[in-house]
Order: sequence, then C-alpha cells, then structure tokens
Amino acid sequence: MNIESIYLLNFRNYSEQYIELDPGLNIFYGENAQGKTNIVEAVYLLTMGKSHRTNKYNELVKWDENDTRIRIRFKKEDFQYDIDYMLKRNQKKQIKVNDIRLDKLSDIIGKLNTVIFSPDHMKIIKEGPSERRKFIDSILSQTKPKYYYNLSQYLKVLAQRNILLSSDKNNSIEKYLDIWDNQLVDYGSKIILERQLFISEIDKKAWEINKELSGGRENFHLRYMPSVAENKHDIKDIKEAFEKKITESRAVDIKRGTTNYGPHRDELNLYINDKEVRNYGSQGQQRSALLSLKISEMDYIKDEIGSMPILLLDDVFSELDKTRQGFLISFIKNVQVILTCTEYENLYLGDKSGYKVFYVKSGK
Ligand code: ATP
Ligand code: MG
Repeated sequence: MNIESIYLLNFRNYSEQYIELDPGLNIFYGENAQGKTNIVEAVYLLTMGKSHRTNKYNELVKWDENDTRIRIRFKKEDFQYDIDYMLKRNQKKQIKVNDIRLDKLSDIIGKLNTVIFSPDHMKIIKEGPSERRKFIDSILSQTKPKYYYNLSQYLKVLAQRNILLSSDKNNSIEKYLDIWDNQLVDYGSKIILERQLFISEIDKKAWEINKELSGGRENFHLRYMPSVAENKHDIKDIKEAFEKKITESRAVDIKRGTTNYGPHRDELNLYINDKEVRNYGSQGQQRSALLSLKISEMDYIKDEIGSMPILLLDDVFSELDKTRQGFLISFIKNVQVILTCTEYENLYLGDKSGYKVFYVKSGK
C-alpha cells in the first residue's frame, strides 16, 4: 500500500500544500515547529478518523481560517482511493471515499493502514495499562471492523452502567443492571477473545525480532492478563466466567459506583527474560522492546489485510542507534515510510536508495 499524494488546505500551519510521495522512503526534515509532525498527523487522521495528539478538532484548523481539508490519494492492492476529510470549525466532520460520503465517520478506519511510531510511544512500555490497551485496540480496530464495533458498543454500555451505578442507590437500579450486564458480557467476551488471539500472534513475532535485535540474548514475551476469564480460550467459557464475575462483584460495583471487571481493566505485561520490562528493563532494552512491538505490528497488519501498511516514523529514527537503524531499514525494504527528523545527513540508510527528501519550513 502506498500514498501517492497528500493535499492540505488550512491544516495546522499549512495554507495550501500538495505533496507527491515516493513509494519508498520519504524524509521530511527541518527545524523544530515547522510542520513535520503536522504531515504525519494528517496521514494518521485519515487512518483512524482522529488525531494521534489531540481530541480537539478545532485545533486542526489553521488559526485564521474556518475550515480545513485533507485529501490523500493512495493505492491498495491495485485499487486507487481518494479520501477526502473536511472539517469546519464547530461543525460535523465530513469524509468522502472516492467521492462517496461516509454515513458513519468510523467507516474510515481500515481503509488507509498505517503504523505510527514516535518517541511518545515509549508510553506503551513505561506507563500504565491503558497505553497498552490502546496499542492493542488501535491495531485490532484497523484490521477487524467487527472488533471496532464491539469495542465501541462495550464502551457505551460500560458508560451507561457506570452512570447507573453512580446514581442514587435506591432499590430500582438492580433491575436495570441486569440489562446492562448482559450486554457488557456479550460485547466484552468477544473483545477478550480477540485480544487473546492477537497477543499470541504478536508474542511470537516480537520474540523473534527481539531475539535478533539482542544478538540472541533475550527472550521477549507478552502476556495478556484479562481482568476476567484468564486462561479461558473458548467464547462460551469466557462468557460464563465474565458473567460469574460480574454477578459476584455487583455489590462492590454498587458500593464503589463503578464497574470493576471487564476488558477496560485488562493488562498486557511485557517481559524480557522473565522480568517485567517496565520495571527492570534498561533504556536500551525498553527501546528494543518497543521497536520489536512496532515491527510486529506492521507484520501483523500485513498478515491480516494482505498488504504492507505505511510506516510513520516521527522523530524516532534518529534516536535509534546504528544497529537498530540498520535493523529497521532492512525490515522496511518494501514499505512506504514517512520519516521526520531535524537533520537527515546523519541517518543511517544502509543501501536504501531512491528516496525523496523534503525540507519543511514554516508550513511549506
Ligand atoms: P518538532 O521538530 O519540534 O517536532 P515539527 O516540525 O514537527 O517540530 P509540527 O508539530 O509539525 O512541528 O508543527 C508545529 C507548528 O504548527 C508550530 O509552529 C505550531 O505553532 C503550528 N500550529 C499548530 N497548530 C496550528 C494551527 N491550528 N494553526 C496554525 N499553526 C498551527
Ligand atoms: Mg514534530
């Protein structure tokens, strides 16, 4: 899969810009605050329907303007797609794919496939479980529309259930809880099963990559720790265990005014040689772990959709040492890459040839 062109109108600090990309490597370099990440953001926006760095859509519109537009033309499996994203200040967004308007904005997910990697992603390794759930959810949402649907339904039900739990604790709430509990278990169990399958796939891939990165010294492993139904691998068993847990914890849920069990409380633990990377990994080990996860993510998406996603490397390549840069370069031979950095002369590009270099200055 590769992007042929990007058109930006009043997006962030860009007034009007048309960019034709190389099918291979594209290097955007320039000083700080010139508009490099803005390009990455535009591409990500058309991947997931939302920005990777803000939930406030108005921020995307150029300061002195009222509406913004992004148009990306890309090829996937011999088909050409044009995604048009239009946003007016304080109004609903509009997205068109090949000139046909999408009814649901979330239908955009899965059309353009990208993997994004920025220094901020160290959070996946270093911070709490919600970062790791986000990592899992964004990949599964991109590759499995059903997963995205189940997850958004689950979150809606969860929010409703929590409102009910935190409302007046009179005796009528139990009756309504039954309804929410059924749905919570139904959607939640499907999520648990998908996450399980996904993690066992990624575990194999990341282990192999990390092995190579560490010169055979390290065993990197991922372990899914669902908050219910651990070690259950059949949808029926998962449902049963979830149902049991939610019934048992009802009194506590009512007391605390929130839902204490379910996929929103899942954890994904990462280990190198049986020690948690978050607590015991060195800086270098943590970076290798993240790189292994990100390369596995590419590989997983390729397996699922049949073509290589586009790799967005924002400010991260120059942070890797020569060994890791070389490793990444050898992996991304047939991948389109959008790479940002402040200086490109020192990048180690191995035998990578035929790339395009863009100098970015003041939104041009
Ligand atoms: P760095 O190397 O520091 O990461 P960068 O080149 O990636 O820099 P970007 O994040 O792409 O920088 O762009 C930031 C620039 O865009 C800043 O100058 C910021 O003031 C400007 N900017 C952000 N939002 C808007 C907006 N809505 N309208 C106009 N300019 C904006
Ligand atoms: Mg930047």
